[in-house]
Amino acid sequence: MSEDELRVRLRLVDTSRNAHRALPDRLVPADAKILAASVRANSGVTDQMFRLVVFPGLDESGKAVASPLGEGSVRMRLEGMEVVWLLPLGSFLPPKACPIDGESMNGAWRFCPRNGASLATPARKPSP
Ligand SMILES: [Zn+2]
Repeated sequence: MSEDELRVRLRLVDTSRNAHRALPDRLVPADAKILAASVRANSGVTDQMFRLVVFPGLDESGKAVASPLGEGSVRMRLEGMEVVWLLPLGSFLPPKACPIDGESMNGAWRFCPRNGASLATPARKPSP
């Protein structure tokens, strides 16, 4: 599937289940294209392995399509296949510490997967 075909067929589904089309190549910002070229050059991936698809950040009403710190999920849909990202994205949050075993946990998790303890407080950073 060509990059242009992918842009036409791929949909970003927001937290309200509205599907969004990718921007056509002529509307993809130059800095995004430079970033993609840099990723390809520095990682050794080919154009077939790495495709740049950019979606508008705002919907028709001016509302953000997705926020990494929001609730719910964001999905990518392509011809019956769907990939789901649960929000908030843990990589955008500080880690949390388990109050029982002290282990550092993903900032988006609500409970420790080992003992079920509530993970309400962010982990303290170690002092230098
Ligand atoms: Zn724990």
